[in-house]
Amino acid sequence: MKILKFPNDKLRIKSDSLNYKEIRNIKFKKIKNCLLKSKGLAISAPQVGINKRFFIMDINSNLLLCINPVIIFKSSIRFISKEGCLSIPNYFSYINRSKYLLLGFFDSKGNYLELFFKNYFSSCVQHEIDHLNGILILDRT
Ligand SMILES: [Zn+2]
Repeated sequence: MKILKFPNDKLRIKSDSLNYKEIRNIKFKKIKNCLLKSKGLAISAPQVGINKRFFIMDINSNLLLCINPVIIFKSSIRFISKEGCLSIPNYFSYINRSKYLLLGFFDSKGNYLELFFKNYFSSCVQHEIDHLNGILILDRT
């Protein structure tokens, strides 16, 4: 599994939601291994050429899979986050992001969950959701 690099056109597509059949069939384990190998902190489906709405995030060495994620709440309190991207090697950007957010999503068994994120993890979720909408850190600078 290869990570697509900027300026690949596939990184610019707005991804579609997954239905139950797709949730069952996608090889999430392969993408998890790809994230572990890359030593990145998160990876979105479009980055491995799948234009579907999910991402995987490393939270203190636990990999969290978020399918069809929706931001339920985003704080007006903001902070400046320093971000890199697996699709744009050797580039960093300082981006103004919400400090807190509440995310709704489905897991690989189709259960709906809600999780609260703050600081670095909040910016990471916003970065990954940007990928699902075809937005890169280059656009946020
Ligand atoms: Zn990225």
